[in-house]
Amino acid sequence: MPGPGLFPAIGQTPLIYLNGPSAATGCAIYGKAEFMNPGGSVKDRAALAIVQAAEAAGTLRPGGLIVEGTAGNTGIGLALVGNARGYRSLIVMPETQSQEKIDFLRLIGAEVMLVPAKPFKDPGNYVHVARRVADERAKTEPNGVLFADQFENLANRNGHATTTGPEILAQVQAITGKAPDAFTCAVGTGGTLAGISAALKASAPTTKIFLADPHGSVLYNWATGGELVSEGTSITEGIGQGRVPGNLAGVALDGAVRISDTEALTVVFDLLKHDGLCVGGSAGINIAAAMQVARTLGPGHTIVTILCDGGARYQSKLFNPEFLRARNLPVPSWLA
Ligand code: PMP
Repeated sequence: MPGPGLFPAIGQTPLIYLNGPSAATGCAIYGKAEFMNPGGSVKDRAALAIVQAAEAAGTLRPGGLIVEGTAGNTGIGLALVGNARGYRSLIVMPETQSQEKIDFLRLIGAEVMLVPAKPFKDPGNYVHVARRVADERAKTEPNGVLFADQFENLANRNGHATTTGPEILAQVQAITGKAPDAFTCAVGTGGTLAGISAALKASAPTTKIFLADPHGSVLYNWATGGELVSEGTSITEGIGQGRVPGNLAGVALDGAVRISDTEALTVVFDLLKHDGLCVGGSAGINIAAAMQVARTLGPGHTIVTILCDGGARYQSKLFNPEFLRARNLPVPSWLA
């Protein structure tokens, strides 16, 4: 078995004071720079935690195959961690996800299977296809198959509860001498939100936890006591959900914020121009939610959020004037 390889490069990310969002609200808004992980996203942490848990349980053997259904980032994390540990990877993705993520997965050696985007209740949904492919390949793979199962596999949120959450607490305490007043985070699997919340609530029960949700997701309604229904759509990738995944279940929320693509993109473009940070759409949702919470709490509060991945991963969409204009979304002034 190879050594830990790239493992120490995952996590321990900087906490960045976001100048523009802080100045606009009078609060101190910080972003955890998860785009700095080796695979370029917060999902490297989940991939590492899932692989380590499977190795410890003996469900992943040397030379084995990792199979996962993903919007792309978890696949990238699993493929890189897999390469470092001697596993191959087969990634099932909805074909609607950015070409950049698909190309990068192929570049790093993953087998990529694209499927039409279908709701979870449809057997053709990428998660169900991935599970069936894992079962099928298990019949012929000499060293076995691990279905990573990021939505239900609690190694995902445990990874955040033991790394990302304590890192945030230590970083904020080092700067301000106390815990953050609030934390905002969007959900794909819920691993990031639920894991970090568990760590924050355990050490700092006064920290308020807010779900950030795009349009087209049912979770805002779920969190505010309504039915599991959604309104509208979003071009953001990796977040928004039509169900409550196992990794989100039981999360202790203090509130929820719904953010439009226009708000999120405005934040993404402003952050690039004025803070020098190029982030993806889910980070835009997270920061916009932090700004809304800041305005509700009033000036002087400290709010932390997650910069889930980088904007270059979505160059063909978020930074493509034709794509944006066709959807009536704002275009960055310098690209117009
Ligand atoms: N942002 C991006 C870009 C993602 O790919 C994901 C994961 N699908 C998330 C946010 C959400 O993370 P989690 O799965 O931990 O809820």
